[in-house]
Amino acid sequence: MIEMQDVWKTYSDGTHALKGINVKIDAHEFVYVVGPSGAGKSTFMKLIYREERPTKGHIFVNGFNLEKLKQRKIPYVRRNIGVIFQDFKLLPKLTVYENVAFAMEVIEAPKKLMKKRTMEVLELVRLKDKAGSLPGQLSGGEQQRVAIARAIVNNPAVIIADEPTGNLDPETSWGIMKLLEEINFRGATIVMATHNKEIVNTMRKRVIAIESGNIARDVVRGEYGYED
Ligand code: ADP
Ligand code: ADP
Repeated sequence: MIEMQDVWKTYSDGTHALKGINVKIDAHEFVYVVGPSGAGKSTFMKLIYREERPTKGHIFVNGFNLEKLKQRKIPYVRRNIGVIFQDFKLLPKLTVYENVAFAMEVIEAPKKLMKKRTMEVLELVRLKDKAGSLPGQLSGGEQQRVAIARAIVNNPAVIIADEPTGNLDPETSWGIMKLLEEINFRGATIVMATHNKEIVNTMRKRVIAIESGNIARDVVRGEYGYED
């Protein structure tokens, strides 16, 4: 599903964010990406959803070789990847419904399907009755659930979550994790960067630790492994 072969990322200011990453993530896996701040986790995630491009090496996502991807093929890859951020990144002037439906509009989904599917995912994240609310009227946990609905509405094979519980209290965070687990159970591959020690150590899934741009650990049913 996702493969990196000797992937390096050096930013324009000379920062070596990733230094020769080799990794393979299979379909339906749930993977935590952990490591100290500045280790390269966000860069690793951004390379997968093609927000950044590698300086060297090869990346394959869902059968596509990202570096050989023609500009016009990028939307095809993006629709197969749902992204969830720490700060939700919802459009503040659009309603909950519109925020989610917008992701389908972007890929020019049929109008009829749009309404049905948007309501279906809002039901899955238990926000059907907030469809007409604006993001600012919702709690943090509810906003993240909208972001999750938006991420899954096009049925992507891969979900990238960068610190999705970073702004949420522990109880709300567990609600979000249950939802991600459900989405994984339904078939999506999930790659989640996190500093949440309790979640990683309780859920016991594959853990990839990145330190100074290298993979320091890659363990099936791994642990968080840091004190922060
Ligand atoms: P995190 O991944 O820890 O949540 P960020 O990815 O936003 O946070 O930033 C991680 C580090 O990268 C920070 O030290 C930040 O200053 C640095 N950083 C982020 N974007 C840039 C940029 N455009 N130029 C230089 N440094 C950046
Ligand atoms: P993490 O997510 O683990 O905190 P990042 O991938 O954000 O790490 O950052 C890895 C390294 O790359 C850090 O040294 C950070 O400051 C640097 N960095 C991140 N984004 C940029 C950028 N856009 N330009 C320059 N340096 C960056």
